[in-house]
Amino acid sequence: MEADIERVLIAEEVIDKRLDLLARRIEEDFPGEIIQVIILLKGALVFAADLTRRLPRMLEIECLNVSSYHGGTESSGQVDFLDHKLPDVKGRQVLVLDDILDTGRTLRAVVDRLTADGAAKVKTGVLLAKDKARAANVEADYVGFVIGDEFVVGYGLDYQGRYRNLPYVGTLAESAIDPDHRPKAQE
Ligand code: 5GP
Ligand code: MG
Repeated sequence: MEADIERVLIAEEVIDKRLDLLARRIEEDFPGEIIQVIILLKGALVFAADLTRRLPRMLEIECLNVSSYHGGTESSGQVDFLDHKLPDVKGRQVLVLDDILDTGRTLRAVVDRLTADGAAKVKTGVLLAKDKARAANVEADYVGFVIGDEFVVGYGLDYQGRYRNLPYVGTLAESAIDPDHRPKAQE
């Protein structure tokens, strides 16, 4: 697996330190409240596991399956909620966690939905944010790292379902990319 990585963009120790800081800021922003953490699957799993264990307080964890269409079908920009039942957020203090903010469509749609469902407060956190103009008007409240507009894997982020278990964030070597399924950012 490591042989498929061209460049380590964010090392494990660097992520560790940054998460300590994000956790402190979240603690300050939700004083004494029971947070409902909503993890966007599957990419935010690793980030959320490491971040929530830095929050020494009562919280509840929910997961959300959303699909956003990229590549050839991106034109619609549609985001679908795939779960039978969404978490009950009415009156709750919610923290949504995603792996990466790209076009912003996913986070925008999720925040809008939770707000419409009556959440009292919705804050958002992402491990990564691409430095680019967003198709949807949204920024995250907590950002681990701002990166360039390139395709990355590791620390939860996948290419064809793989590489999520890499402990760092990196770019893929050309030899690891299937020419018929190029990641969108590389097209
Ligand atoms: P958005 O709706 O902001 O365009 O999309 C965010 C989603 O696109 C992320 O949750 C992630 O699943 C996927 N994504 C965007 N950029 C990358 C990337 O560089 N690498 C990987 N693995 N997924 C990405
Ligand atoms: Mg995702």
